[in-house]
Amino acid sequence: MATGRLADTYGGYRARLVECLRQNGIRDLAVLRAFGETPRHLFVPEALRSRAYDDVSLPIGSGQTISQPTTQGRYLEALGLQGHERVLEIGTGSGYQAALLSHLAQMVVSVERLPELATRARQALDQAGTTGVMVVVGDGSLGWRPEAPYDAILVAAASPHVPRPLVSQLAEGGRIIIPIQRDQAQELRRVTKRGGELEEERLGEVQFLPLIGKHGFSTNGIE
Ligand code: SAH
Repeated sequence: MATGRLADTYGGYRARLVECLRQNGIRDLAVLRAFGETPRHLFVPEALRSRAYDDVSLPIGSGQTISQPTTQGRYLEALGLQGHERVLEIGTGSGYQAALLSHLAQMVVSVERLPELATRARQALDQAGTTGVMVVVGDGSLGWRPEAPYDAILVAAASPHVPRPLVSQLAEGGRIIIPIQRDQAQELRRVTKRGGELEEERLGEVQFLPLIGKHGFSTNGIE
């Protein structure tokens, strides 16, 4: 990624964010490096750029948010990527997590439901010089068949259950990281496919906006 090209007045802030992630328990060096190399300020609205490297979620328009970096770091660690994987992300949002993923995997398909966000994310990804990310508009609860199977699937919105199409588009040995909504609480789960069976692990509480789609919630927030 060609961030070196950018007039990089944000390098010091980025280094501080990486330090903050380390203090919050993120240990994976490749993940920390990805944060160190990804210009988050390009993925937040201009008016919020001064806060781009704070460890907080920020509004990105259309009622959506860019997630908190520590949460994204936990996600990325849980995926345990080696660099050769094909990854599907559901919920492009700002495009920032897709940019992080581009440092950690071979190729990334990112599905966004709202066309205006997908367009802005594409622009930010291009501005950041990101390669290997395909942004598509659609209902990500259906996955993205044309590029399946995937070694890893990351769902960046909370769902009532693991959408079935995602399981069928997952390669053997692959994993899905997804927040599951139960009543008022959300829990991050890692689902691994082994010998056709699914192993499920619980990774702690999180807070995400709803996954809206055929295999998620309906627009009024009901399953
Ligand atoms: N990963 C993003 C943050 C995601 S916020 C980032 O780094 O900025 C959750 C996103 O999921 C929102 O943009 C929302 O529009 C999107 N979303 C919700 N339901 C969806 C669905 N069924 N398919 C695709 N995207 C969906």
